[in-house]
Amino acid sequence: MDMQISRQQAAGGASGHLTIDLGALRDNYLALAAMAPACQTAAVVKADAYGLGADMVSQTLFDAGCRHFFVAHIDEALALRLRLPAEARIFVLNGLQPGNETSCAAMAITPVLNSLEQIAQWAAHSKTLGRKLAAAVQIDTGMCRLGLSPEELETLTSQPQLLDGIDIAFVMSHLACADEPGHACNAAQLSAMRQATIAFPDVPVCFSNSGGIFLGREYHNHLLRPGIALYGGAPSLDRPNPMKPVVRLDL
Ligand SMILES: *Cc1c(COP(=O)(O)O)cnc(C)c1O
Repeated sequence: MDMQISRQQAAGGASGHLTIDLGALRDNYLALAAMAPACQTAAVVKADAYGLGADMVSQTLFDAGCRHFFVAHIDEALALRLRLPAEARIFVLNGLQPGNETSCAAMAITPVLNSLEQIAQWAAHSKTLGRKLAAAVQIDTGMCRLGLSPEELETLTSQPQLLDGIDIAFVMSHLACADEPGHACNAAQLSAMRQATIAFPDVPVCFSNSGGIFLGREYHNHLLRPGIALYGGAPSLDRPNPMKPVVRLDL
């Protein structure tokens, strides 16, 4: 089940052999999923699955039972859509860029909406098409990178009609320091997330990246969202790495 890539280095004439162990990838996926048997486990396959090849990685994980895939950009999502069976749900972390509504809706790609503008854009497109459109909604609980600010969340709570036409599949947030289990940021973000999800009763929650999965049950919610741990990277910086190595370079 190994995928082997030989690389000839032009300059020095040195050659290397890169092995990507798809069996280990599968085992890592199943090990993470087993940590939260009541949850579903997604896979973050952005940046060409962290450089390992999104096609092979996603197909392997689909065969292992994964049905939720996260990429960063629409181009990655469109490429993956053509490779994966229709049951695979594909999310775009960077959300909806203007002009992408048509291809997103036509290709059944689920945008992660990160602002009121993106929500308005998706709601307007739903009206144009005359059907509901699925999305995830991301909340900024302290990462200060992507997601609705507390002010935007308040606007949404007081004007729920802004979400008309949008089927919210998941409410999400991203943990900033989950690879440092002792960091105060983790508990603060958990508490902010609990507060924020009150505005979305009955909507499943997707919160934990690789590190978050190892912070304990209260971080798991409904859908896990690991990236690096799938590929053998350490989920926590100050603990032994429990994941199987996926990549090996022989020189
Ligand atoms: C990259 C990313 C992940 C995966 O994080 P890992 O630390 O690699 O597990 C999860 N969620 C979001 C929003 C991301 O951007």
